[in-house]
Amino acid sequence: MIGLIGAVLVSVALSRLQNIITQPLKSLTETMSKVSQTGTFSAQAIVSGQRGDISARGIASGQDEIGELARVFNHMAGELSQRDDSLQQELKERRRIEAKLSQIAHFDTITNLPNRHSFNSQIDRALINYKYDLEKFALLYIDLDNFKYVNDTFGHHVGDLLLASIGERMVKTLRKEDFVARLGGDEFVIIISAFADTSQISAVAEKILAALQTPFFLEGHEAFVGASIGIAICPQNGKDSETLQRQADSAMYRAKNLGKNNFQFYKDELSRTQKNRISIEAQLHRALERDEIVVYYQPIVEITGKNIIGFEALVRWIKKDGTVIRPDEFITLAEEIGLIVDIGRYVLNTAATQTATWADRFDHIFTAVNFSSRQFKHNDLASDIFNALKNARLQPGNFEMEITESVLMDNSIDSKNFLDMLIKQGIGISIDDFGTGYSSLSYITSFPITKIKIDFSFVAKLPHDKNALAVVTAIIGLAKSLNLKVVSEGIETIEQLECLAKLDCQYGQGYLFSKPVPAVEATKLLEIFNTQSMLSNRAS
Ligand code: C2E
Ligand code: MG
Ligand code: MG
Repeated sequence: MIGLIGAVLVSVALSRLQNIITQPLKSLTETMSKVSQTGTFSAQAIVSGQRGDISARGIASGQDEIGELARVFNHMAGELSQRDDSLQQELKERRRIEAKLSQIAHFDTITNLPNRHSFNSQIDRALINYKYDLEKFALLYIDLDNFKYVNDTFGHHVGDLLLASIGERMVKTLRKEDFVARLGGDEFVIIISAFADTSQISAVAEKILAALQTPFFLEGHEAFVGASIGIAICPQNGKDSETLQRQADSAMYRAKNLGKNNFQFYKDELSRTQKNRISIEAQLHRALERDEIVVYYQPIVEITGKNIIGFEALVRWIKKDGTVIRPDEFITLAEEIGLIVDIGRYVLNTAATQTATWADRFDHIFTAVNFSSRQFKHNDLASDIFNALKNARLQPGNFEMEITESVLMDNSIDSKNFLDMLIKQGIGISIDDFGTGYSSLSYITSFPITKIKIDFSFVAKLPHDKNALAVVTAIIGLAKSLNLKVVSEGIETIEQLECLAKLDCQYGQGYLFSKPVPAVEATKLLEIFNTQSMLSNRAS
C-alpha cells in the first residue's frame, strides 16, 4: 500500500516536474513558431518571474538554461523587431521618393499638368490608336502672348501663379478625355481625340481663347494674357509625331503673325505670297556671300544742330542690278528663316570697324546697331558683340545697342542681367520706337537702359497735334526724371525741330539733318559738321 502510494506520489511529482520543465520549453517553441510563421518579431517568449510566471514554483525558475534560452531568444526577437521597423520605415520613405520622382518625371511642378515627357507618350498612344482604329486626333499648340511682360513686370513668382491659373482654366474648359500638357515656358499643348469634324476643334480653340480673356488676379496684381494657337490634325497634316508638331508650331507662328490672340489650322498649299517669299528667301541666302548686304549710317545730332554725336547703323540690301531693298522688306523674313543672326553679325562687325576709324579722328563718336528679337534669343550674342569690339579695337563706350520694348518682352534669356552686363562694360542701351510698344513705367524703370528714342510717328505730328505733343512732352519728362538721354527720330521739318528744342529734347535724327548714307558720305558729314554747326551749314 505504502509502496503504491509512494509510486502514485512519485508519478504525480514526476508529472508535475515534467510539466515544470516542459511547459517553458513548449511556450518557447510556440513563440518561436509564431515568429517564424507570422514574422511578428515583437512576440516575446515567457520567462518565469517576468511575464505570466508559469514556473515560479518550479525548477525552471527563469534562472535555468531554458530561462536563459528564452531571454536570448527574446533579445534576438527584439533586435529583429527593431530592424524590421526601421526597414519598414525605409521602405515607406523609398516609396514616397519613388512617387515624387515619378510625379516630377511626368508632371510639371508649376501647373501640375503633364509635362513634355508625358505629352510625347500621349501623342505616341494617339498615333497607335490612329494606326489600329483610324481614330483621328488634333494637336493644338498654344503660345501665350505677353507672358514675358507679366513675368518681367510682376516677377517670376507671379508669372508662375499665372501659369498655374492658366493651366486650371484650360483643364476646366476641356473634356475629361482631352489631354493638356505644359511643354515649358509659356507653351502648352492639347490633344483632342474622337471628334466629328474640325468645327469642333475650332470651338475648343475659341473656348480656350475666351477662357483666357478674363483678367487674372494674382497677389494683388491684375494680369492680362492672350494666346496664339496653331492646330495640326492627324492624319491630314501628318502621321508622325515630329511632322504634326512641326505643322502645329508653324500654324501657331502664323497665328502670332496675324496679330496674336487667334487660332490657325495648318495649311498645306502654298499661297502666291508664300511662293514669292521662297524666291526672296533663296536670294537673301546668297545676298551675304555676294556682298549685297551693306550698312548705311544716319547721323544722330545735338538738337541745337551743332554736332554729330553718333550714327545709327541701318542695313540695306543692294542687289547687283542696283535695286535697294529697305530692311522693313527683308528683316522679318530674315528673322523667320534664322538668317538675321548672320546678317546681324555682319552689320555688327562692319559698324564696329567703321566706328573705330571715326573714333580715331573724332571725340565720343558712337554707332548704334539695331538688334531684333531673334538675335536676342541667340546664345552667342554677347560673345558676338565683344568679339566685334575686340577685333575692331573699339571701346565699348563708342557702341550702342538699339532694341525695341518688344525685344525685351519676347525673349527667353534673362534680358535684365544681359543688359546689366553690357552696361557695366560701358555699352549704351537705347530703347527704339519708344511710345509705340508697352511703354509701361514699371517696365522702363526695371530694365537697365541709357537712352530712349521717341518714335517718329509722334514727331511727324508735331507741332500741331495736341495728343502727339502731350506724348512727346511726357516722354521727354520721363527720360529726364529717370536720367536717360532722349533722341527724337524722324525729324523732317524745321518746325518739328524747333518744337523739340522748346521741349528740351537733347538729340535728334531725321531727314532734316541727313538720310542714312554709306560710310564714305558719313565720314564727310563728320568732317563738315563736327567742325561747324550742322544747321547753319544746311541753311547756307
Ligand atoms: P529704326 O531703327 O526705327 O530706324 C529708323 C528708320 O527710320 C530707318 O528706316 C530710317 O531710314 C528711317 N528714318 C530716318 N529718318 C527719317 C525721317 O526723317 N523720316 C522718315 N520717314 N523716316 C526716317 P530703315 O533704314 O528703313 O529701317 C527700318 C527698320 O529696320 C529700323 O527701324 C530697324 O528697326 C530695322 N533695321 C534697320 N537696320 C537693322 C539691322 O541692322 N538689324 C536689325 N535687326 N534691324 C534693322
Ligand atoms: Mg533703330
Ligand atoms: Mg526707330
